[in-house]
Amino acid sequence: MDKRLEVLPDHVLILRDLTYEVNHTTFQIDTLLIFREKLYLLDVKNNDGDHYIEDGIWKTAQGTEIKNPQHQLLRCTSLLRKLLQIIGINLNICAHLIFVNLEFTLYQAPRTPEIIFPTQLNRFIEKLKTEPCNLGRTHQRIANQLLQNSLKVNRHQIQFTYQLDQMKKGILCSECYGFMRRYNQKRLICLKCKKIDLTTNRISSNIKEFKFLFPDKKITSKDIYNWCGGVATMDVIRRVLNQKYDLISQGRSSHYVEKSKPD
Ligand SMILES: [Zn+2]
Repeated sequence: MDKRLEVLPDHVLILRDLTYEVNHTTFQIDTLLIFREKLYLLDVKNNDGDHYIEDGIWKTAQGTEIKNPQHQLLRCTSLLRKLLQIIGINLNICAHLIFVNLEFTLYQAPRTPEIIFPTQLNRFIEKLKTEPCNLGRTHQRIANQLLQNSLKVNRHQIQFTYQLDQMKKGILCSECYGFMRRYNQKRLICLKCKKIDLTTNRISSNIKEFKFLFPDKKITSKDIYNWCGGVATMDVIRRVLNQKYDLISQGRSSHYVEKSKPD
């Protein structure tokens, strides 16, 4: 979508990835275009495959309910309107859902100009090109104010820095993230909620967690043993690793990699 918008006249101001908080509610805006008389709020969707609407509920071909994008757009628009009032900007908002994936189909699609389907995208862009966009200083001020009010950091984007040697080692409960200890030969128990789980299950999650947190680190049985905080024996850890990973030996050292083929 960003690429497609490049054809717009240079004067059009394009703001992206904005996050605001209004009335203790956080909302995000993909793309906001500032024209002379209105703001275009674009919610870009990458859904693919067949979808249908039943009693106002959006579903995938398999019948799984998805978040209603029209409701999301409505919510976003009304929060943006409130924000504009607060910072004293008086411009109309033109809100659109833009489905960009060519593989997306919506049966019983509502006939509304609010939704732009992939087959309509070209015409939509052409229409945008004709919007008056001779902007004045006030528009620049509007853009600045919208940027200034955007929360630089929201709780979904907080950056954490961490180092392996500074982290508390152990196996966490899948239910409450409490630490677990050995319960019997094959099971662990959570110290917090008392949930009992198979040791091999928890080790397997711990390996995934390790991979996720340290994508550049090679996986060795010793590292996983340490990561599990000594709660599981080296034997069990090796067994889990051998089940799911291939052992690569390089001289005296060896590490595990994801199996090349599923079993
Ligand atoms: Zn627990």
